Amino acid sequence: MALTPSLKRELVLLASWMFFMLVIGTINESIILFLFIGLLVYVVWNLYNLNQLSKWLSEPSKQTPEVIGIWDEVYYQLYQLYRRQRKSRRKLTSILNKFQKSTQALPYATIILNELNEIEWFNPAAKQMFNLHSNIDIGQRIDNLIRQPKFVNYLLKADYKKPLKFPINQRKIILSITPYGDGQHLISARDITSLSQLDDMRRDFISNASHELRTPLTVMSGYIEFLQHKADEKIKVPLENIHQQTVRMNRIITELIDLAKLESSENVDYTKTVDIKTLLNEVYDEACSLDQDKHHIKLVIDTEDGTTANLYGSYEELRMAFSNLLTNAIRYTVEGGNIKVFSSTHETGITIGVQDSGVGINYEHIPRLTERFYRVDEGRSREQGGTGLGLSIVKHVLDRHNASLHILSEPGKGSTFCCEFPLSYSDQ
Ligand code: ADP
Repeated sequence: MALTPSLKRELVLLASWMFFMLVIGTINESIILFLFIGLLVYVVWNLYNLNQLSKWLSEPSKQTPEVIGIWDEVYYQLYQLYRRQRKSRRKLTSILNKFQKSTQALPYATIILNELNEIEWFNPAAKQMFNLHSNIDIGQRIDNLIRQPKFVNYLLKADYKKPLKFPINQRKIILSITPYGDGQHLISARDITSLSQLDDMRRDFISNASHELRTPLTVMSGYIEFLQHKADEKIKVPLENIHQQTVRMNRIITELIDLAKLESSENVDYTKTVDIKTLLNEVYDEACSLDQDKHHIKLVIDTEDGTTANLYGSYEELRMAFSNLLTNAIRYTVEGGNIKVFSSTHETGITIGVQDSGVGINYEHIPRLTERFYRVDEGRSREQGGTGLGLSIVKHVLDRHNASLHILSEPGKGSTFCCEFPLSYSDQ
């Protein structure tokens, strides 16, 4: 064992002291007694120093007691340790202060919950938004204080992938929950009342403009049809072109109105059952009569144990979504190609999709397909009577049914559009 220099010095000191006592003992012819007294003095002296140290430790200061030997070194080392600790404590306090100041200044309401969903801390914005009181609400379960049913469901369901929008105290709020640490949760909420008012205004504007355009367009279409019957051969072709354009404008207006309705209508009524077999058969029959045998279209409904699965929600909206997918498959598949409408039940839910052997889509376009008016090939879409709004409608309908759209495609080989409905929104 390597001895430290201070311990070596202490041993030398002890040895000198004991040697001194040995000499005194020899002179007085009582060596054992004097050696014993020497050891006793040494122990008492150390006990005294230990007592001094214990007093100093209860209130450490730069002023250390007057000591000699190893005790000097002990005080020095302890004081250095104390200084380092004080420094890191000061640093931690300053970080904590800065964190508290910044979270207090945050315009977003922030709440920290423990693993039992009890409030541990919240900032002033949360206090104001949810009417919380620092002295009585800390330690309370959050669902006892924010009783909005949408929020309570969201909290207890513990599926925090998507943020939640809900109204509270005449305001509209968007809230997200982030799990962290040992079962704790961080709630962050933002007031989106004015944003949502702007959004409502934009939606109303589009809806009103579309409705306003519809009447003159109907009048124009009527006149064009009338003129087509009366006109001589020379202007029949330009009139037919005008007619085609009015039909297209009419389709755009109808789809814009459909989109506005989807955006502004109340939540879907999940108490209504949608029979998949009836729904898909209707969409299939409609598509076959539109297609006039130009493609091989088939319908495959695959249900486990032969029972028909159901979805919950709006029959009309779902019909519109699947009809759009099937119309697209017809539009973007050359004559003679194959198209399959399918539904399959599995452990996690129901998949309903449309597969075609059409032109396919390059992968870089796929993330943007559901944007309004996004088209891979504008010319082809126009030629086929597309509006650029179909997939946007599909996405909205699926969002409203808590379902998601997955697109698989390979240029030249075809595409598959799958709508995935989770278990809770479908029954098996
Ligand atoms: P559109 O009315 O132009 O078809 P959509 O929103 O329905 O508008 O579709 C957006 C774009 O996605 C289309 O313009 C087309 O380029 C592409 N697309 C949609 N469905 C298919 C499909 N089945 N095969 C190939 N491309 C498709």
